[in-house]
Amino acid sequence: MSNPFAALPAVHRVLASREVADAGACYGAAVARQAARDVLAAVRARVAHGDPVPALEALTSEVRSLLERRAAVAYPEVLNATGVLIHTNLGRSPQLAVSAPGYVALEYDLTSGERGERLTPVTARLVRYFGGESATVVTNNAAALVLLLAAHAAGREVIVSRGELIEIGGAFRLPDIMAASGARLVEVGCTNRTHPDDFARAIGDNTAAILVVHRSNFALAGFVATPELKDLVDLGRRRGTPVWVDQGSGCHLDLTRYDLRHETTVQQILADGVDAVLFSGDKLLGGPQAGIVVGTHSAIAGMRHHPLRRAVRPDKNSLAVLAATLDAYLAGRPEEIPLYRLLAAPASTIRSRARRIARRLQLDRIEAGFRPSRAVIGGGTTPDQTVPSWAVTIPGGEDAADRLRRARPAVIGRVEEDLVVLDLKAIFAEQDAMLARSVATALAG
Ligand SMILES: *Cc1c(COP(=O)(O)O)cnc(C)c1O
Repeated sequence: MSNPFAALPAVHRVLASREVADAGACYGAAVARQAARDVLAAVRARVAHGDPVPALEALTSEVRSLLERRAAVAYPEVLNATGVLIHTNLGRSPQLAVSAPGYVALEYDLTSGERGERLTPVTARLVRYFGGESATVVTNNAAALVLLLAAHAAGREVIVSRGELIEIGGAFRLPDIMAASGARLVEVGCTNRTHPDDFARAIGDNTAAILVVHRSNFALAGFVATPELKDLVDLGRRRGTPVWVDQGSGCHLDLTRYDLRHETTVQQILADGVDAVLFSGDKLLGGPQAGIVVGTHSAIAGMRHHPLRRAVRPDKNSLAVLAATLDAYLAGRPEEIPLYRLLAAPASTIRSRARRIARRLQLDRIEAGFRPSRAVIGGGTTPDQTVPSWAVTIPGGEDAADRLRRARPAVIGRVEEDLVVLDLKAIFAEQDAMLARSVATALAG
């Protein structure tokens, strides 16, 4: 039997083909050579497993598509037509665009010319907006919880209600986080009912704190009881036990303005007298990924001096966006924040936009329609609640959804039976024309 590898073309022959040469001119000769080598290596492995040797044209088009994949934008822009405003897979909250100069006075005091503290501008704003004595910022809320526990509860006990031992998704399970930070979890109460007395009985010599956790992604209904935060704070004061709240969602303004049920805000929790409250920067704060902690001087100082703090230090871009986001709230202008612009759009306006997009698509012979829809905030913020919205519908089910995903910008909808439903609640009005163009191009031919 002849050696099948002998039939494989050499790298220079693949590179000399018209298709690869054109791509090489576009993406660079070195990049093209590497892609040709990588494809040939993969083909050699397939041939070794008994596959036939592919024709030269098949090889060159494989090289070309590899080059295109490698040249693709790492994080492409998407039009979020899912009806989920804080979509974990689409980067949670849409962010304020803050232009970043090359260098910034990140840890530098321009008045004295001396070294400054990177967090000060942001923590000053946090204290002004939320109240509390002091604040700090780390990379995300999970890190904030780990740091708080490591700083104040390593080798000690933290009391948590059995109704709040949550899993946020992925690797965030409260009992595991506690174990990783060296704290010992003491569970009290029952899944559905926990009383202040349960906490009172559990407090001992080795108790570091009571931890209250926001039920971010589920709702408890029926025969249920949860202690008032005020009562836990009173208990903590009497017994010298700090009370911490992992608020998660970072609710900070009156959600009833946006057709949602009232949710306790970070400001109210601090006013109740807790020692520390933690939340994410990219949920209801509508900012960048960050873990924010606001509380007493002693709670925050312990975190600031812990060696782990350096490992969870936020970067300059996040801090700049977070400061700008807080400035909008401090100025009383939440509508400048993209998330609240979306939330504020009334259903009647969304309906007209849906109708206009559907008409525009009909001109392109796409059988588009429009209909009412329900959107959700998502991201573990307001479980169990929806807001009224409208959607454009496109025939073609999964197949059409697949094409829309490959469009640029990509359009991400949801499939309901044989329709793609494009909810407009998380689409900015100024994106409507782009959405229509993307859909029309994706479905043409
Ligand atoms: C979302 C959430 C977290 C995790 O926050 P990240 O910023 O994603 O790390 C932790 N606790 C609660 C209650 C949450 O809702």
